[in-house]
Amino acid sequence: MAQVQDPVCGMEIDSEDAVASAEHEGVTYYFCSQDCKEAFDEDPEDYVEED
Ligand SMILES: [Zn+2]
Repeated sequence: MAQVQDPVCGMEIDSEDAVASAEHEGVTYYFCSQDCKEAFDEDPEDYVEED
């Protein structure tokens, strides 16, 4: 089990409880809801933190 942060809404969730996940540039992100995943899929760059 691992605590992860939903990049869309910022909610801390357990990766095993995540409703959905998506991979972006080799990193897997977890989401609290399908809505959050869909928002991420539409514009992942908007949600990932990169320098
Ligand atoms: Zn969320």
